[in-house]
Amino acid sequence: MGLDAEAIVIGAGLAGLVAACEIADAGRSVIVLDQEPTQSLGGQAFWSFGGLFLVDSPEQRRLRIKDSLDLAWQDWQGSAGFDRPEDYWPRRWAQAYIAFAAGEKRAWLRAMGHRFFPIVGWAERGGGAALSHGNSVPRFHITWGTGPGIIEPFVRRARQAEQDGRLRFLFRHRVDALSATNGAVDGASGAILEPSPIARGQSSSRISVGQFELKAQVVIVASGGIGGNADLVRANWPARLGKPPQRMVCGVPAHVDGRMIGIAQGAGARLINRDRMWHYVEGVHNWAPIWPSHGIRILPGPSSLWFDAKGERLPPPLYPGYDTLATLEHIMRTGYDYSWFVTNQTIVRKEFSLSGSEQNPDLTGRDWRLVARRAVGRHATAPVEAYKSHGVDFLVKQNLADLVAAMNALAQSDLLKLEAIQHEIEARDREIANPFTKDAQIMGIHNARQFLGDKLVRTAPPHRILDPAHGPLIAVRLNILTRKTLGGIETDLEARVFDEAGALVPGLYAAGEAAGFGGGGMHGYRSLEGTFLGGCLFSGRTAGRAAAKAAG
Ligand SMILES: Cc1cc2nc3c(=O)[nH]c(=O)nc-3n(C[C@H](O)[C@H](O)[C@H](O)COP(=O)(O)OP(=O)(O)OC[C@H]3O[C@@H](n4cnc5c(N)ncnc54)[C@H](O)[C@@H]3O)c2cc1C
Repeated sequence: MGLDAEAIVIGAGLAGLVAACEIADAGRSVIVLDQEPTQSLGGQAFWSFGGLFLVDSPEQRRLRIKDSLDLAWQDWQGSAGFDRPEDYWPRRWAQAYIAFAAGEKRAWLRAMGHRFFPIVGWAERGGGAALSHGNSVPRFHITWGTGPGIIEPFVRRARQAEQDGRLRFLFRHRVDALSATNGAVDGASGAILEPSPIARGQSSSRISVGQFELKAQVVIVASGGIGGNADLVRANWPARLGKPPQRMVCGVPAHVDGRMIGIAQGAGARLINRDRMWHYVEGVHNWAPIWPSHGIRILPGPSSLWFDAKGERLPPPLYPGYDTLATLEHIMRTGYDYSWFVTNQTIVRKEFSLSGSEQNPDLTGRDWRLVARRAVGRHATAPVEAYKSHGVDFLVKQNLADLVAAMNALAQSDLLKLEAIQHEIEARDREIANPFTKDAQIMGIHNARQFLGDKLVRTAPPHRILDPAHGPLIAVRLNILTRKTLGGIETDLEARVFDEAGALVPGLYAAGEAAGFGGGGMHGYRSLEGTFLGGCLFSGRTAGRAAAKAAG
């Protein structure tokens, strides 16, 4: 019947790459289509921090962290809050994914040459109760080599398969429709876009120079989420998070346009949990942007003081790095779409990381000498210092009066009152005099320093924020940053796509962010972090293996 390949994969991001490698290595022929040029191979994952969620790993054990599958599942359920009939498959995906993260994930990656940085991070410390949202223990394992390091084994495998004639990349091929025969999806068609000389991650043109139509036995949709499309984000914004922000910065390249998810729906796929999303509250404008409205997320340690736009300190447990969506909800209920960190040089030096491979040249370049510099001197990493000098959201002053005046000037308002902010910081600073405290944020700092990893690289020793020895003072205006799509195309445990009536759509599979990282939303409402790349690995592998079998 004139097939162009046994399988088609739409999207050359991490999920699509993993799926295509599995198909090719199973001896099947596969075409990988992507609307972007070859230089953007790997999609979002290239830009990522490379953080992966693992359970009970050797890295954790070396840092005396006691983790287990049961504890991770408890945390996952507390975070996901599954509460809908359509959570049936997402919940089953979550269980399978936790088993993968506690089981073969690390060994599978290691066998392909992947390695981790030895210090495990503690992301999403949670909502304050053992059974509620958050990680009971640190689980954020950073890839040695960050984003480029995570795609590297799969790019290598894919290029080898290409040389061997089993895999064909077709870049600048934008899928506009899926084709079906007798109800079975059997191909994709669309526009061939003009060649594009852009640098990786920049927006490429959408000028069409031709059409294509390709046929295969199976098609996998691995086209990413909606985070680069502010209109779609606002249209799906859930009422529980307040009004959609008017101003947002964008944490993903423009190709994360969500368009293909609608095309899959047009071909019969059922979309679920579209109102579940994962956006950050610590976004700053990139002073050297690569994509439109490019924002960078600060990965904060626990010490900075957090104020809303009106100068009210955020309530417990909304501290830096604790509970992303509860903080987002709180901020949106203030009536403003930004908030402030007030902090100082000692805290910024030790506690500010920037999420993104290009913002961490030491980890990305696998350069131990540069990494060691994080531990010495008064300066933060070079990229963080560059934000202090060039970032529009960063204000650096020697005294609080000047800092608050600069904050008001930046916000073009007089919402912040010096006396009130000073009162709040001085009260907090007084609590440092004793080794115990009633301030829950300071309790959190003491607690964090009981964990060796935090003590070494992530949590500054408790000190008075206004102590000039720890200055200068620094304020950062924090914007809402769009990033991840938690809902998506509903699939079974073999990544096969369901239709609206609950029947499988023959020939159609979905993986990665387009599938809510598995099943149509395996995170439920919230993530424990490091679960997105991991979700692409797991769902891409699952889809690739199942599709290879079906095409046999
Ligand atoms: C700066 C940054 C930091 C991050 N850090 C982490 C982290 O530390 N840990 C973690 O777990 N996650 C992290 N993430 C998230 C993670 O990188 C992404 O969720 C994941 O890589 C998504 O992969 P994907 O393959 O599903 O989609 P994508 O990477 O978006 O790839 C989809 C591909 O499909 C193509 N495509 C879309 N539509 C079409 C169409 N119609 N026709 C043809 N091609 C199409 C796109 O061009 C794209 O190349 C980060 C993301 C960013 C941006």
